[in-house]
Amino acid sequence: MSKRMTRREAIAMSGLAAAATAGTVLTATAADNRKNDMKENDMKENMKMMAPEKDLAMLGGTWADGKYALPALPYACDALEPAYDKRTVEIHHDKHHAGYVKGLNAALAKLEEARKAGKFEDIKALSRDLAFNGSGHVLHSIFWHSMTPGGGKCEGDLEKVMVESFGGVQAGMEQFAAATGAVEGSGWGVLAWEPVADRLLVLQAEKHQNLTVWGVVPLLVCDVWEHAYYLKYANMRGDWVKAFMTIANWPFAAARLAAARKMCRMM
Ligand code: FE
Repeated sequence: MSKRMTRREAIAMSGLAAAATAGTVLTATAADNRKNDMKENDMKENMKMMAPEKDLAMLGGTWADGKYALPALPYACDALEPAYDKRTVEIHHDKHHAGYVKGLNAALAKLEEARKAGKFEDIKALSRDLAFNGSGHVLHSIFWHSMTPGGGKCEGDLEKVMVESFGGVQAGMEQFAAATGAVEGSGWGVLAWEPVADRLLVLQAEKHQNLTVWGVVPLLVCDVWEHAYYLKYANMRGDWVKAFMTIANWPFAAARLAAARKMCRMM
């Protein structure tokens, strides 16, 4: 076995946790089998090898003193000139990103009030606020680190998976640029790792608030598409949700939480 951990071995080590990232579940048996293939010593050695990569992937300063926080830029405001000008970086970071952080903390405070009062009349608006500001905070925190003065090379494991996923590094980069440029209205171009197939995908995130808070790990989900309940509950979606709550599998959610927490902290 080579000293450097392969991506598939990394998945095996984190087992369910890796699958949890995308809200999907590998069977415990498959994950366990792969995990058992690794010798304990190799795993320890590989953990050491992974440490620097893990540190680089961490987004420091996004959470502090029990609240979401505006992280400092990882470079000076003018460090990306001429590609990205100082004034835009300043406004983008100090005003726009700061606004998401403020909005995220405010949404959480209002949700706390609603829970305490048992009043959920505004739950729709508050959930939208949470998703809009939460995704804004996560994506901007990743965005600042997605750029570096002079740019950086695509090499090592990333280069390998780019070739596997897109047929070549250049082809993957071109798809990323094309997809990003073609995002309708406001949005993001996203290069993402999809853990089930262990491959990369290029996504367009239009209106990030319509999707989710990017980066979360789903623990428990309830399907409220009509196909999920209409045969029995017809238009009474509330009755289906009440029924779901009586059969909700919280131990499953707890197991996914434990698995997810074993993954390196990305924020
Ligand atoms: Fe922005």
